[in-house]
Amino acid sequence: MVFFVPHQDDEYLTFGLAILRASQTHDVHVVLCTDGSLDDTRNQLGSGKRCYLPELGKGRRIHFGRHRYDISVQEFIGIRDGEFRTGCELLGVRPNNVHIAPNRAVDGSLSPDLASEIIRDYLSTLPEAVVCTEVPIDCPLYDPNAPGYSDVYHSDHHALGNGARILFESGKITELIYYADPYYLQLFKNAAPHIDFKALVPNQTELGVLRKAAKAYRRWRPSRRQFAVAWHSASPLFPQVTGDWNNYFYRAPR
Ligand SMILES: [Zn+2]
Ligand SMILES: [Zn+2]
Repeated sequence: MVFFVPHQDDEYLTFGLAILRASQTHDVHVVLCTDGSLDDTRNQLGSGKRCYLPELGKGRRIHFGRHRYDISVQEFIGIRDGEFRTGCELLGVRPNNVHIAPNRAVDGSLSPDLASEIIRDYLSTLPEAVVCTEVPIDCPLYDPNAPGYSDVYHSDHHALGNGARILFESGKITELIYYADPYYLQLFKNAAPHIDFKALVPNQTELGVLRKAAKAYRRWRPSRRQFAVAWHSASPLFPQVTGDWNNYFYRAPR
């Protein structure tokens, strides 16, 4: 089972439970398909302004103080890659099965063609794999005030779904499962009312693992160049905040 994910945090936000559950019974691989370099968190961390993150309840904060950290684009990519690898491993994926596509896209520029190419490359060594990736449903986000709104964000997600769909329709993928970003589920349902999304619902044990795995995205240790990038970038989308721990999926129809 191979999960193709757009950015460093989507493995948790969109596929976390699916990866965790599949890891118990399957050989699971996760492939990162962009470099995540455009995320504005890099600028925020160097802005000199106070941290804008809300408390995590009971007065718990990721950190206090101002954002005074100069981080180059290359370093930022590496920091995010570290969060990605740790997150996958805490979800139960073997370290050797966590991949960064050598031809990954620069953030915001993933096309369906490149997505197909990346998927095809991995399937050449894992030909019987079940492919799991984002839904190919196009639904522009009209509300710039919506949590997680970003044009960049959305186009990479959509490109992955379409890249997989093209391969599936030409018979190069035997089984394809699409996962909807849970925080946009209603948008997807509005755009494609005929699709019957299924929910994966975590049991108590899985919930415990998911809570622990989120720590990969909240590590704040500037002396070790750990900056909780995903949490700064997308905390409103995390299940700890939305309250929705489910994953949502449907199978590509024959
Ligand atoms: Zn993303
Ligand atoms: Zn901060």
